[in-house]
Amino acid sequence: MSDKNLRFNSKTIHGGQQPDTAYGAVMPPIYQTSTYAQTTPGGHMGYAYSRSANPTRTALENSLASIENGAFGLAFGSGLAAIDAVIKLLGPGDEVICTNDLYGGSYRLFKQIFEKFGIVFHFVGMDNADKVTKYLNSKTKLIWVETPTNPMMNIIDIRAVAKLAKKHNILLAVDNTFATPYLQTPLDLGADIVMHSATKYLGGHSDVVVGALVVRDKDLADKLYFIQNASGAVCGPMDSFLVLRGIKTLHVRMQRHCDNGRVIAKYLANHPKIEKVYWPGFENHPNHDIAKNQMKDFGGMISFVCKGSSYADAIAIIEKLKVFTLAESLGGVESLAGHPASMTHGSIPKFEREKSGVVDALIRLSVGIEDEADLIADLEQAID
Ligand SMILES: *Cc1c(COP(=O)(O)O)cnc(C)c1O
Repeated sequence: MSDKNLRFNSKTIHGGQQPDTAYGAVMPPIYQTSTYAQTTPGGHMGYAYSRSANPTRTALENSLASIENGAFGLAFGSGLAAIDAVIKLLGPGDEVICTNDLYGGSYRLFKQIFEKFGIVFHFVGMDNADKVTKYLNSKTKLIWVETPTNPMMNIIDIRAVAKLAKKHNILLAVDNTFATPYLQTPLDLGADIVMHSATKYLGGHSDVVVGALVVRDKDLADKLYFIQNASGAVCGPMDSFLVLRGIKTLHVRMQRHCDNGRVIAKYLANHPKIEKVYWPGFENHPNHDIAKNQMKDFGGMISFVCKGSSYADAIAIIEKLKVFTLAESLGGVESLAGHPASMTHGSIPKFEREKSGVVDALIRLSVGIEDEADLIADLEQAID
């Protein structure tokens, strides 16, 4: 059966998967082994050492390639390990243009690790793709896009940036963690690399830390595989299994995240005590048209600010929530609430984070798949 003939909701379950050849197990077994018996040096069945390849990881990598409409998947020990591998394609003097309100960990990796090795990063607001043009030069090797952004829910036009990248022969990578392939498939929009923190929606159950890359080009896949094996930040067999299991319900979960997200975004927007709600599904969102065009729905991530509220007020609200758990991370079945200024964006100086809208009073929600009425009742009592 060729995956190409399957629709998305079938690919999540069957994409790149075959029953196990040993006993016909429907779910890929967890091959908890570091090494494999050889009949003669080099005489093995495709697996020699689990850093280089492991059958459970292969099953996950095939599934990732399938759901992102790619050809090659690579699974890493974390989302940041996957990003690390992409930047290792570059060398001293090379330049990267990236989204300005990036995930904090990506920003830290670029600024505090890779700048030391002579790679130059330009952080640019990409709400208008033309802004990227100003930073292009002969040393530009990579454009790094995150959309929707965290926590301001800005939307970047992947097609427009891809056109620019193609024209100048530059690689385009898209962090697709927030949207997932259920909502958008960046490779179809012209990106060369899709990256995931599978820790979030792909895993979906807040029980694992895993990263992923998906590409179409064989040369690029070979280079990334070389880095994955040489640097060694691979994903273990148990974690591979957990993400595979998560992906099988991705489409069902994501639609519910979107449905609940829509109800809560509208509830907050109509609440007299709320000043501003950030969610790309609103018609007055600055890039709503692009979101509508490149995404199937608008996701379950929402940020908001209460009227006249301070740093302490925002913390008081999230501490009062009972159904929403106060925690880092996102994308699990349970609803989470966070305070970006003190949590995810705590390491970014106040004036720096306020430039991109991350004010002290901002609250971020990862809306889960509970009953929407319970979520609204919880927000109601906390905001009151
Ligand atoms: C969490 C996250 C990452 C980092 O992934 P880890 O699995 O935590 O290493 C990167 N990008 C985005 C958008 C994220 O939310």
